[in-house]
Amino acid sequence: MNLNKLTISQASDGLQNKDFSSVELTKACLDRIKETDDKIKSFITVTENYALLEAKKADQKIKAGDKKDDLLLGVPCSIKDIILTKDILTTAASNILKDYIPPYDATLISKLKKRGMVMLGKVNCDAFAHGASTENSDFFTTHNPLDLERVPGGSSGGSASSVASDQCFYSIGTDTGGSIRQPAAFCGVVGLKPTYGRISRYGLISMTSSTDCPSIMTKNVSDAALILKELAGKDKLDATSSDQKIDDYFELLKDENIKNLKIGVPKEYFIDELNSEIKNAVQNAIKKLEKLGAEIVEISLPHTKYAVPTYYIITPSEISSNLARFDGIKYGYSEIKSQKLKVKSLADVYLKSRASGFGSEAKRRIILGTYALSSGYYDAYYLQAQKARALIKKDFDDAFKKVDVIITPTSPNVAFKIGEHNDNPLELYMEDIFLSAASLAGVPAISIPCGFAKPKNGKIEMPIGMQIIGKHFDEKTILKTAGIYEKSRD
Ligand code: GLN
Repeated sequence: MNLNKLTISQASDGLQNKDFSSVELTKACLDRIKETDDKIKSFITVTENYALLEAKKADQKIKAGDKKDDLLLGVPCSIKDIILTKDILTTAASNILKDYIPPYDATLISKLKKRGMVMLGKVNCDAFAHGASTENSDFFTTHNPLDLERVPGGSSGGSASSVASDQCFYSIGTDTGGSIRQPAAFCGVVGLKPTYGRISRYGLISMTSSTDCPSIMTKNVSDAALILKELAGKDKLDATSSDQKIDDYFELLKDENIKNLKIGVPKEYFIDELNSEIKNAVQNAIKKLEKLGAEIVEISLPHTKYAVPTYYIITPSEISSNLARFDGIKYGYSEIKSQKLKVKSLADVYLKSRASGFGSEAKRRIILGTYALSSGYYDAYYLQAQKARALIKKDFDDAFKKVDVIITPTSPNVAFKIGEHNDNPLELYMEDIFLSAASLAGVPAISIPCGFAKPKNGKIEMPIGMQIIGKHFDEKTILKTAGIYEKSRD
């Protein structure tokens, strides 16, 4: 049996029944990483010794018979390299942080450690999570395990590739404007972005503070449900975290009745640009849910077309501010040393370390954001974008008066080829067309696989993702809908 192919629940059952140990699970994953990662390139850092040590500790706890309800205990995972891990290299896949060892853990890491986390390592992403393909990583591009010529999506591409290729059982990443949902769709796994504030942001390397969400990638819906319960909750270290009621999402999935569920289908998401196979697959999935008892309602989210432009004003604005902390003195100086750059003054150190430490996408966003926030342009860009954002949020508020969940495709296309959008960053921004609105509104959304489609320029069929969007803090209903669909699927 390939232990690394199990789901979290299966692995946890096996551990508690003593069918195998956490050390065996961990070794199976490490072997898989050794076997595949020179081609896939999910990992920036593999923490082999640390993982084996934690696995041993988990086995001792299991042997002692305590922690029976701890379903994550001893189950190996990967963590996106934008989440701080104490004493373990955390780079944000950027040159400016390529030697950065954090002195503390993100809150979500502290929580997972309490649950007996076995972390296999830190996985690749677009630098500072700016992107949709991992091609913006300052180190290397991750490959889609289903077709190595294609991207895994991004920015949490290493999370998606590591879960999809059974290198680990789950991964924690971030979703600021689609970075969990789109790679989950491209690699054929489940990606859950909770409501903004549901999981503490403390210890993330900030991208866009007003939309950053720690998010979950798993092989199935129930695994995502059980992780959400562990990570959710108020954190005194993050003032934007919420104390809204946390449900037992895993238990609630046992209720399979969707008789009273109203599903909204927004016409703005089923446009001509949408690949027709994706359109059919998502429509078939909706029909299946209708057969199972749900009511389907056509709705409109009229400001959808403003979501991408709004997102690409607000995001760079916040990025230009957040990246200012990497001041070129405290961070980035090692670049000057390693590249043996000559410096004339302190100002020169500042300029050269930022110039060599930031990649072109980070620079593009710093420049765009600084421009949008500058006096004279603020009203025309940033303020206007905030007004549009309010309208986008109102679209969802209005829709959720009529329906319980909204279903859309996750992405207008399946995974594209590495390099396909290299000439034009705008093309890559347009990949976010179905993702940005939920992020701006702060509502929860999940992407689950719903079929396969052949890309225009390829022979291998690639997975299609279906997005289910919910009301603020109503993760339980999107998980339930996703879970019921997943069970009904061939
Ligand atoms: N593709 C989006 C961007 O480049 C989303 C990034 C994210 O969610 N981190 O900004």
